[in-house]
Amino acid sequence: MTPPPADVEAFLVATAERRLARFLEFLRIPSISGIPRHAVDCRRAAEHLAGDLAAVGLEHVEIAETGGHPIVYADWLHAAGAPTVLLYGHYDVQPVDPLEEWEAAPFEPQVREGRVLGRGASDDKSNITVAVAAAEALLATRGALPVNLKLVFEGEEESSSVHLDPWLTANAGRLAADVALVADAGFFEGNLPAVTIGLRGICAAEIHVSGPVQDVHSGQHGGAIENPINALATIIAGLKGPDGRIRIPGFYDDVVTLSPADREALAALPFDQEAYRAELGVPALAGETGWTTLERRGARPTFDVNGIWGGFSGEGSKTIIPGRASAKVTCRLVANQDPARVFTLLRDHVLAIAPPGVRVEVVSLGGGRPTLTPTDLPATRAYARALEATFGRRPLYIREGGSVPVAASFETIVGLPVTVMGFMPPNGNFHAPNEWMDLANLEGGIRALVRFFDEFAAAPA
Ligand SMILES: [Zn+2]
Repeated sequence: MTPPPADVEAFLVATAERRLARFLEFLRIPSISGIPRHAVDCRRAAEHLAGDLAAVGLEHVEIAETGGHPIVYADWLHAAGAPTVLLYGHYDVQPVDPLEEWEAAPFEPQVREGRVLGRGASDDKSNITVAVAAAEALLATRGALPVNLKLVFEGEEESSSVHLDPWLTANAGRLAADVALVADAGFFEGNLPAVTIGLRGICAAEIHVSGPVQDVHSGQHGGAIENPINALATIIAGLKGPDGRIRIPGFYDDVVTLSPADREALAALPFDQEAYRAELGVPALAGETGWTTLERRGARPTFDVNGIWGGFSGEGSKTIIPGRASAKVTCRLVANQDPARVFTLLRDHVLAIAPPGVRVEVVSLGGGRPTLTPTDLPATRAYARALEATFGRRPLYIREGGSVPVAASFETIVGLPVTVMGFMPPNGNFHAPNEWMDLANLEGGIRALVRFFDEFAAAPA
């Protein structure tokens, strides 16, 4: 890691301990947006963040009400003639189940061998901490930022960002900028610096199948009526073929096909397929025929069942035909698939293939659009230079399998080009037990963002 300008570096070194302590305090707040009883904690996290933003010298700090968890806004707009960067992150985190798989309590963060272990340590409190610390270091040492900066931190990213789009729509005027820096990403396998150029979208739904008025005797009625769990299994089996292709008619219509150059770029990434397989503990990798693992994971859409329930699952046997069965399903989408259209196609196909003898309902749980960022965007190029100068190697350009629908919202609602930023370690267990952050990535990230501001101010076009 090469240090940034000496004054900034000296400040960062002198304040490292205090910064880590403040990061741990942030991680102790269980800001789980998806669980209603944690609403108070989400607000505490927003207040914690707003306090930090004001303390480091950002202005117009606001805890904006949204009808859900608040959005924290702040800005610094005194770089006359310089470009404006809007930086987005989220202070909410995923639930922690299964709790027994954690090595330590998820909201009692532990520092061990250069890592911080705890829920939110990487996703996304690390990237927020990077943003606040970079602004702090510049304001403390130079009394100014090289760019105008607008910060938007939301508290519902992990629960579908329901209130963000209306807030962006209502505030589009004051959010004008030259780029939206979406800080919710990380490095590539092997902890290699990377710029995420593709993010998948998502379409989420629940399938409910109902049969008899209640659970009934499988001896008395078995053979005479349809079983909702069997029917649900039939439906699910009809949604994807053994070749890994999704069988929903029209599903692939809007998919942007990879060019030969795109495929070459993905093939050139230093990806160890066997190590990936071993880390996941699966006997073999599997997916859509005709595509490589990285293509399947970043540039092709998916259909997955996320949960399934119904009938009896206690100890021993219980001879029933269950009254109902349900599944939660999601499709990860790629450019230019539209989540609303995909939901309609999914619903229609589920209803078309449902066996007779059951009632089927498909309910939308929301969605988000995919994004694809051009690598020659001035902000993307400035960010790549900042990563290279900081971490000593050219960044890789990757397509992330996950979804950050807000990236598309900044494009479509606010009209900004998007560059995706982030420093999470690729194996940081986000959304899983034992989430962790690499402290070298965190500290390097601060220095890279300082450099990005300087680079982008010098070459905004
Ligand atoms: Zn995130």
